[in-house]
Amino acid sequence: MDSIVALAKRRGFIFQSSEIYGGFNGFFDYGPLGSELKKNIRDCWWADMVRRRDDIVGLESSIIMHPKVWEASGHVAGFTDPLVDCKVSKQRYRADQLFFSPVVVTGADGVAQTIGYVSALESEKTAADLQAAAETMKRKKAVQGTLAPVVVKDFTEAREDEYALIPSPATGEPGSLTAPRSFNMMFQTNVGAMTDASSVAYLRPETAQGMFVDFKNVVDTGRVKLPFGIAQIGKSFRNEITPRNFIFRSREFEQMEMEYFIHEDADWAKCHQDWIEWCKNWLLSIGLPESHLSLYAHPKEKLAFYSKGTVDIMFQYPFGVQELWGIAARGNYDLGQHAQASGKPQELFDEATKKKFVPHVIEPAVGVDRILLAVLCAGYAEEDVKDEKGNVEKRTVLRLSPRIAPVKVAVLPLLKNKEALTDRAKALYKKLQRRYAVFYDEAGAIGRRYRRQDEIGTPWCVTIDFDTIEKDGTFTLRERDTMTQKRITEADLFALLDEQVY
Ligand code: ATP
Repeated sequence: MDSIVALAKRRGFIFQSSEIYGGFNGFFDYGPLGSELKKNIRDCWWADMVRRRDDIVGLESSIIMHPKVWEASGHVAGFTDPLVDCKVSKQRYRADQLFFSPVVVTGADGVAQTIGYVSALESEKTAADLQAAAETMKRKKAVQGTLAPVVVKDFTEAREDEYALIPSPATGEPGSLTAPRSFNMMFQTNVGAMTDASSVAYLRPETAQGMFVDFKNVVDTGRVKLPFGIAQIGKSFRNEITPRNFIFRSREFEQMEMEYFIHEDADWAKCHQDWIEWCKNWLLSIGLPESHLSLYAHPKEKLAFYSKGTVDIMFQYPFGVQELWGIAARGNYDLGQHAQASGKPQELFDEATKKKFVPHVIEPAVGVDRILLAVLCAGYAEEDVKDEKGNVEKRTVLRLSPRIAPVKVAVLPLLKNKEALTDRAKALYKKLQRRYAVFYDEAGAIGRRYRRQDEIGTPWCVTIDFDTIEKDGTFTLRERDTMTQKRITEADLFALLDEQVY
């Protein structure tokens, strides 16, 4: 992972956001090559998902939507964790995982007295830990009497006057824990000049709600018929408590989501399965190796009440097997929620049964940044190769699919100071540039120039030499992965690109 992060920085793929100010945790910038790579991933997805299908249309909804959208979707109430801070240690706890009990001792006179509080973090033996801590407290304080059994409560159940009495698990001392507060992962902002409660709005934490809220608009204007999908690519924002693993979990990221609407009586399980297959095949088409992909079906008991099933396509990152693409069967929950909250029915009319119904949905949702990290991780290799003189040297190579590689072809004149060569090379470069991202490089030995291209994942280099200008016009095509070379014509080169870059 360290080598990949270093390469990403060194060659201008990914930078820390606001680096000159020390960086900003959870935010990243994509440099010249990174932004090309990211754009190619988006463009391939859009071409395959929207343009090349007859049943899917595109959408670009606003990032800030009416706050009621997020109430209806459940994000205002449910996209939260209850958090407690320890002011001394700066540790942060989930309030529902922090347990406590008053320590009550009844004296010989029959009077019960609370002598303090004990706390413990959630474990399989929370009650036993609290009981043991209560016994220790009674002994230390040398209080006579009978210790009552502990009453296990979590911090969300604590009374206000108890907050300061409950010891912090970090320090063992009371007085440093704050009141629990709901930590909503949505970023809040204010719209308009007022900054009061009435102007609160949110940066979207997912793009999906745009498709639900515009469902009727698309149906009424888009000449769509069930089953059909609405797809969107765009930024999403989540105030993740622990952003980590480079761009894998960040606070600002980009999603590619599609809502595929089906009849309420349709075979949703088959449709779900078809989309899992489609998504997996798409990942293979942009060069991810099958060996790194696996499927994870969420257990039934962990699903939201409305969910019929969720399967994640997992990718084997250097830091472990992690979710790349979630494919969820969401029933008609989202459209139903918006119909109820807005008072605007979100139904279609079934000509066959003469009945209205709310369509169900299958939702494949993936992060562009997670795909980009996956292709970097899968494509990165360091290998021993022989140079022109037969000496073994290391080469770093990024095996990116031609579909997504930031530079498709590097055009290299064999020598820098021979005008006939550079003129011909520049002419080819200009011609290629009309359709493809290409690179012109005349600096340094040819072997070094090849290595520079290997490192950024350029699939092909073409070298213009004396044969090109003096003989048949062909040039040398050098292939990144095999490092083989062959002579080809300009027409062959364009045919190759046409076939491989789509
Ligand atoms: P996780 O469990 O990893 O937090 P999630 O299940 O909450 O993800 P979804 O809400 O299903 O994620 O979002 C769909 C996709 O968006 C994910 O599969 C992932 O590719 C991407 N994604 C979600 N959160 C982030 C993030 N913080 N940074 C980058 N990509 C993300």
